[in-house]
Amino acid sequence: MTYNCNHFFKSISYSMNAQILLLLGLLLVSLSACGPAPETFLNNPVIAHRGAWKTEGLPQNSIASLQRAIDIGCAGSEFDVWMTADGVLVLNHDADYEGLVIESATFEEVSQLRLSNGERLPTAEEYLRKGMTQNRTKLIFEVKPSKVSTDRGIELADKCVELVKSLGAEKWVDYITFDHDIGLQIIELDPDANVAYLNGDKSPQELKEAGYFGLDYNIRVMKENPNWFEEARELGLNINVWTVNNREDMEWLLEQGVDYITTDEPEMLLELIQK
Ligand code: MG
Repeated sequence: MTYNCNHFFKSISYSMNAQILLLLGLLLVSLSACGPAPETFLNNPVIAHRGAWKTEGLPQNSIASLQRAIDIGCAGSEFDVWMTADGVLVLNHDADYEGLVIESATFEEVSQLRLSNGERLPTAEEYLRKGMTQNRTKLIFEVKPSKVSTDRGIELADKCVELVKSLGAEKWVDYITFDHDIGLQIIELDPDANVAYLNGDKSPQELKEAGYFGLDYNIRVMKENPNWFEEARELGLNINVWTVNNREDMEWLLEQGVDYITTDEPEMLLELIQK
């Protein structure tokens, strides 16, 4: 009888332990399912300039070129953003597409245009939403200076930051711009944002004082100011160099310890860093 009782209580005890383990397991599974996605942005220097378009003949600044930058494993995909006359943010490199000036056109007019693969010129919202379906490739958001007025440039900066915040895309986005007023506006609106300056006419010290995250300069500028690599590093600024399309320059920049290289040849740079 004693043996049977002990056996009975042991069985209960084993059964309870199993249930507790099962509950703990379920709790862990549910926590991992509900928690934030792990930070898995790629740690390589490759930024695809206007997406990765060249080898596949895709249009620049398209969803397709973003998808390819993601697929081949670029750390970032760069894109250019303008604002239509009626306030919609759309991607295009130049001020116009096929003669239609984006800043003077309505979104309705812009949406009639087609890229070579049949896509419409993506809106910044569409591009960000697509980019946010993954978390390996960052979205390098170039805010284009307005050709209409400085005030319109500031309005554009406001809209860009508002869009990024409304989508919760902050984690994916680094901003870049040639326009110092736009850069300062973004820094003020989102002090945690990574903002880099493109225009090449400010020293690392000046950029640091203005609150920039980094410099993103033409390779010619960096060749003329080779001391800026060390200066920027000492100040803790991120260093990105554009637009670098040959192996020799890529190798030189990697030797200088740059963080990012913006290139039309992301496959070439990916191959180079894998050697
Ligand atoms: Mg650009």
